[in-house]
Amino acid sequence: MSQTASDPWPSSIRRVAFLFAMSAEGTGFARRLGLEDHGNLDPSLPAHWLSGSIPGSGGGSLEVAVGFAGSDPEHRVDRIGTVPAALAAHLLIRRFEPDLLVNAGTCGGFKARGAAVGSIYLGSRAFLFHDHRIPLPGFDAFGVGRIEARYPEELLEVLDAEPGVVSTGDSFTPCAEDLEFFAAEGVHAKEMEAAAIARLARDHGLPFLAVKAVTDLVDHPEPEHEAFLRNLDRVSGALEERLVRLLGWLETRSESRA
Ligand code: SAH
Repeated sequence: MSQTASDPWPSSIRRVAFLFAMSAEGTGFARRLGLEDHGNLDPSLPAHWLSGSIPGSGGGSLEVAVGFAGSDPEHRVDRIGTVPAALAAHLLIRRFEPDLLVNAGTCGGFKARGAAVGSIYLGSRAFLFHDHRIPLPGFDAFGVGRIEARYPEELLEVLDAEPGVVSTGDSFTPCAEDLEFFAAEGVHAKEMEAAAIARLARDHGLPFLAVKAVTDLVDHPEPEHEAFLRNLDRVSGALEERLVRLLGWLETRSESRA
């Protein structure tokens, strides 16, 4: 089963799974919700998860899971990037069976398209892969992905987010071809996981959202990694606030339609 353009956004969502690539991006959120730690999603992988029941104001509740790609046991850093993200998302979907999958995290923004550090984007239009260059018939389009992004319009207001084209690649530093791609496609958010998770969500027939907070500006002269480290904690806090708003909106929505 797969999600198609004609599928309506589900009227009631009661089980929401969030996936984060970096522990700094989502640990505060999981702690704030008081979720229970279930350890690893698979005995052979560092991906891990937590879950819990979040009571709503109207007497109902939402079941929430938070998954992480985990820390690489050899290099002792978060396993960022597409492969660990898709693996963790798949395991989390099988284990938790969510009605909605959300990839939340940080991204590089573009000053040229109005971004500042702290800007929040909701993945819109389509999820792209900027570094899958496969000049072969059919595979070229498969490489770029262009996985449709869908959400109810009112979510932009709920999240106080801008609609943004999110593009995914496995490198932090962009090459010349990547920069051409960002300009040609009008990319707003450059990051390393969303399109891979969007494709997986589609395979599972699950609605998918990407909520991305800008930690660094791709087209700003400041070296990206320095800006990134300085902004990571502050921006992750702002992201956490928006995700809590998303849960409030889902709760009211499912209670009013119960
Ligand atoms: N430099 C960081 C780690 C890399 S940041 C450190 O030293 O800790 C990459 C992670 O943040 C990825 O999960 C990606 O999704 C997101 N990200 C934030 N800004 C990014 C950018 N400019 N380009 C690519 N990914 C970015």
